[in-house]
Formats: sequence, structure tokens, C-alpha cells
Amino acid sequence: MSLNSGSIRVGVIGGGQLARMMVPPAIHLGLRISVLAETEGSSAERAADMVGDYRDAETVYAFAETVDVITFDHEHVPQEILYGLEERGVAVHPRPDSLQYAQDKIVMRTKLAELGVPIPNWAAVADEAELQKFIDANGGRAVVKTARGGYDGKGVRVISDASEVSDWFTALAEDARGGHLLVEELVDFTRELSQLVARRPSGETRTWPVVETIQLDGVCAEVIAPAPVQNAATLDEAARIGAIVADGVAVTGVLAVEMFETRDGRVLVNELAMRPHNSGHFSIEGSVTSQFEQHLRAVADLPLGDTSMTAPAAVMVNVLGGPAEGPMPVRYAKVLAEHPRAKVHSYDKMPRPGRKVGHVTVTGDNLEEVLAEARAAAAAFGSGE
Ligand code: ADP
Repeated sequence: MSLNSGSIRVGVIGGGQLARMMVPPAIHLGLRISVLAETEGSSAERAADMVGDYRDAETVYAFAETVDVITFDHEHVPQEILYGLEERGVAVHPRPDSLQYAQDKIVMRTKLAELGVPIPNWAAVADEAELQKFIDANGGRAVVKTARGGYDGKGVRVISDASEVSDWFTALAEDARGGHLLVEELVDFTRELSQLVARRPSGETRTWPVVETIQLDGVCAEVIAPAPVQNAATLDEAARIGAIVADGVAVTGVLAVEMFETRDGRVLVNELAMRPHNSGHFSIEGSVTSQFEQHLRAVADLPLGDTSMTAPAAVMVNVLGGPAEGPMPVRYAKVLAEHPRAKVHSYDKMPRPGRKVGHVTVTGDNLEEVLAEARAAAAAFGSGE
């Protein structure tokens, strides 16, 4: 507890936009938030109490001494440091036993199989011969993923010959920890869905409506909330899977379960994220309780808030850096002037091609109109196309 007010002190490891978007609700809830940012100039650096390397145990332990509970903006903090925190009596949410399922895609697939939720055919392969066998047995094409460290489609390749990932096998062979690559069947999906769930240490959970996510080049481009109903049973199935996974991995905080809806009407889990997630940004304006507020409530072990929609439809469109037409402040003023209904979020990051630098959310009664306005506002704010 902080000395003057008794408010709970939440420490976030990682200084990206997710940490940044936790700051306003932390203030509203009366929590004290601080951030361990990796570099000066990180998106959440204004809230940072420390800049340092999250892979350095002493840095993380020193940061932890200043807070009551540790949570995360990303999943990359090494397990030995997370267990070291728990040994020192620090509350860590999600706990390392849970977080491992979001840190390593092979550990995740093994757990999902054990929980009995539907997933694509997969295998952990140690060399090109094993990989080629899987490809040949699954229609001649497959998706290969590095188990660790991938994001936004980096670390994902669709291949038809094992030699197309020989560089990854070479890198694994040079890594002292060794390891395997994950290979999956190439799923013939009609769309991607995401179920967000928040869970408290006590097991209390709240879910948001299932949303549809649209990716371009492996990067989330748009989110439609709630997911348009094509088949009500599919959305019920996605919600059912989300609940099983949240309990099965005993998450604390927000969990995103990313799923494929297949042409033949099945729902298959793609992957898990244990933190606020891009598919939940809509909830800042679109839900009574945003994912960022809910994550803080959950990790501080406070009662969870209502997750109902504030409007029939919410659309979030990501803004990626690109070849800019004019300086950011000029475009920013222009988009605010031209789209007064749009909520424009800037992450205060240096725009680089393809880097997520902000997002736009529009809520309303009519999905077509909301979608058109969100796209127009994001385009005006974004690359200047
Ligand atoms: P990342 O961790 O980089 O986000 P994902 O595992 O989510 O990687 O994969 C990124 C994207 O690649 C997915 O959103 C999906 O569009 C596509 N993808 C991943 N796995 C498969 C698969 N087994 N079949 C078809 N497409 C896939």
C-alpha cells in the first residue's frame, strides 16, 4: 500500500501502448501505477518510474520493491525472474504458471490439447525431416511458427517445403536451450474471432462479447464488436471455449483467446495472450468497463466491472506507420476536425512503416456507418494514402 493514501500500487513491466492505456483507468480507480519501460521514449514512458531491462533480474526485483502487484504489457519476462519475484513474496498476475501458456506456443498447444478444446492439427518438430513428414500428411502446405518471441505475424510462415524454414532450425541449433518449431495445418478459415475474458485470483470471471478480428499481413487491422452473427451457435461455441481456457490456465487479468471460424462451421483456438489485447481496444469506448480497467481490477483483486456494450456496434481500426503525407500533428488536427465522432488514440510512437502507432474507435447503432467512419478516420490519421 502506498504510504499516503493506502491505494494499491500496480507495477507494469513493459512500456508499450498497452501499459500506456492502463494509465487513465488506474488514475480513475485511484490505483498508483508505475511502469518499467525498456527504453527512453517508450509509449508509456510518461508513467514510467524506471527505465531498464526486464531480462535483468536485479532490475525487475528493484522495480518490484516499489509496488504491491506486478503485471505486464508483454509476455517476454523470463520465467526464472517471475518465479524469483514470487519467492520474494511479490504478487505477480498473471502468475508464472499461467503465463507460460502465452510465452511458448508449443506449451500452449500442449495445454489446449489437454483441456480438450478444438485446435488445428499440430506437431512440435525437431528437424526438417519431421517437418516435411507433417507437411506431406497435411495436404502439402503448413504453417510453421517459432515457439517463442513471435508477434504480429513475425515468426509465422506458410510453407510447402521444410527447407523454407532452415534458417529457424539453424538458429535453434545454435541456441543453448535447443528446442522445436511448431507446425500446424493451414486452416481454411472464413474469419477470425477473439474472446476476451477477465479473471480474478478468486476465479470470478467476466467476458466481453465475441469480436471479429481482421488481419492484414499477420497484423490486426480491424476489430468489429460484437462479431456479426452468421451462425449464433458458432459465437456460443467461441464463448464456451473462452471460459474453459480461462479456468484451465487459471489466468489472472485479461486473457484473449484468438480463434478461427472454419468454412465447415468449427471454431479452433489459434493462440492466447495474457494481457489486454489489440482485439479489446474497442472496449475503451464500446464497453461499460474497458479491458484496461478490468485488467487492473483483476490484478489488484478488486470486483470486476460490467462488460456490456455501450452501443450496438463498435469498430476499432489500427493506425500503422507509413510513408507520411504530412507531419503527424497536422494529420492529427485534420482527423479530429473531420471526424468528431471518432475517438482517436495516439501512442506517441515514432512512426515506422507497419508499426502500430495508434487506433481509432467509432461506436454507434449502424455497423455499416460505424465501419465506414472508423476506416475513413484511421486512413486520414494514418499513412496518408
Ligand atoms: P502472432 O503470435 O505473430 O500474432 P499467430 O499465431 O497469431 O502469430 O499468427 C498470425 C496470423 O497468421 C493469424 O492471425 C492468422 O491470420 C495466420 N495463421 C496463424 N496460424 C494459422 C493456421 N494454422 N492456419 C491459417 N492461418 C494461420
